[in-house]
Amino acid sequence: MAVAKPAQAPRVGFVSLGCPKALVDSERILTQLRSEGYAISPSYDGADLVVVNTCGFIDAAVEESLDAIGEALAENGKVIVTGCLGAKGSVVQDAHPQVLAVTGPHATEEVMRAVHAHLPKPHDPFSDLVPAAGIRLTPRHYAYLKISEGCNHRCSFCIIPAMRGDLVSRPVGEVMREAEALVASGVKELLVISQDTSAYGVDVKYRTGFWEGRPLRTRMKELCAALGSLRTPEGEQVWVRLHYVYPYPHVDEVIELMAEGGVLPYIDVPFQHASPRILKLMKRPASGESNLERIRAWRRICPELTIRSTFIAGFPGETAEEFQQLLDFIEESELDRVGCFAYSPVEGAAANALPDPLPQAEREARQARFMQLQSRISARRLKARVGSVQRVLIDAIEGNGAIARSAADAPEIDGVVRFSGVTKAGLGVGDWATVRITSATSHDLRGKLLRADEMQ
Ligand code: SF4
Repeated sequence: MAVAKPAQAPRVGFVSLGCPKALVDSERILTQLRSEGYAISPSYDGADLVVVNTCGFIDAAVEESLDAIGEALAENGKVIVTGCLGAKGSVVQDAHPQVLAVTGPHATEEVMRAVHAHLPKPHDPFSDLVPAAGIRLTPRHYAYLKISEGCNHRCSFCIIPAMRGDLVSRPVGEVMREAEALVASGVKELLVISQDTSAYGVDVKYRTGFWEGRPLRTRMKELCAALGSLRTPEGEQVWVRLHYVYPYPHVDEVIELMAEGGVLPYIDVPFQHASPRILKLMKRPASGESNLERIRAWRRICPELTIRSTFIAGFPGETAEEFQQLLDFIEESELDRVGCFAYSPVEGAAANALPDPLPQAEREARQARFMQLQSRISARRLKARVGSVQRVLIDAIEGNGAIARSAADAPEIDGVVRFSGVTKAGLGVGDWATVRITSATSHDLRGKLLRADEMQ
C-alpha cells in the first residue's frame, strides 16, 4: 500500500536585527511560527517568505535595516517587515514599496496575520475545528469584546485589583482582529467591556499598534472609531456599545463620536454615589458635582444619549443627608437606566474597616427608596420616547411577536421593545427592524413595525 508523503511545511526565513528587546520579539514570532507548523529556513532561496525584524534607533541602524529589507526582497521577493523601523511612519514603504506588510515592534499577532495572509498555515486537524471567532456563549448576533484586564483604581468596596491586578490593555490590533472575526461570524452588536474602559491604553502609554497595515493608537477614542467603522457582510454598520466607562475628561471626545453616529449613543458609567465625602470614602476619582456638569455637557453634545449607571445605597457612614444628596442627584441627572445595590461587605475590601456601618435593614430600605424614585424617572424618560422611530435588533421571537432592543437597551440589563407582525415581514432572531414606539411602561416599550414606505 502506498503511504501518502506528508506535505512539506511552508518555510519562513527570518532576519533579526536590533537590541535585546527586538531579539525577544523575534523569539516570540519564531516560537509562534514553529507552534503553528511553519518550518524556519536558514537561507533566502529555501524560504517561501522572509520576515525582517528591524531596528530604528540611530541613523546607522535605520540604514542597516533598510539594506537588510532590500537584500531580502532581491533574494526572495516576499518580505514582511516588523520592529522599531516599522513604527517610524512610512520610512519602510517609501524605501521599499514592494514589502507585503509592515508592523511596529512587539507585534507577534500582526506579524502572524500577515504571514497567514501571504503563506497559509499548515492544516491542523484539532485547532482548525475551532471557529475563527472562538466558542461563544452569547447569541450569534451579539458578543462581548474585552479590551483590557485589571484596574489601576483602588475603590474601597472592591477587591478586583487584588484578584486581577493592575490594568493590562490588550494590543489594539488584536482587539480589532477579534472584533472583525466576530462580525464576519454574524455578530451585529459588539459590547465593549473591561474594568475601566476609559483607561484603555494608559498602561502602555497609548502605544501605537497596527490594524490592517495602518497605525492605530491604543486609546479609547481611536479604538471606538475603528470599531465603529466595521460593517457586517451585508454592508450595515455594526452597533458598538460601551460599558464601564469612567467619566474622565477625554470621554467627551467619545460622546462627540456618538453624536456623529460612530458608535451607539449609549454609555454605561458606574457613578456609585453623589456625595463628595462618600465618593472619597469609596476612593472614587470624581466628585458628584462635576459628574452632574459632565452629564449636562454630554447631553448638549449628544441629545439622544442614553446613560446607564449603578449606585450603592447605605455605604458605611452614609448619613441621611448624604443619602438625600444621592436621591437629588438622580432626580437632577435624569439617568435613563439605573441599578442600585444595598451596600454589602466583600471579604478583603478596605471599606469593611470604615466606621459607622448601617444596619442591613436600613441599607435595604434606602435601596428600595432609591429604586422607587428611579422607577418614576425611568418611566418619564421612556414615555418621552413614545412616537419616536427606533431601529431595533431582534433578540427573540414568540409566535408572531418580537422581543428586540433599541440603541438605548443593552442585553440582559436594560429593557426591551416588543412588537408584532414578524411572520408576515419574514423577520427572525438577529434581524434589524424599524418600529414606531406606541407605548411605554416603567421598563419596556411597545412599538409598531414599520414598512419601508412608512419610514420617511
Ligand atoms: S470598582 Fe471598578 S474602578 Fe473601582 S477598583 Fe473595582 S474594578 Fe477598579
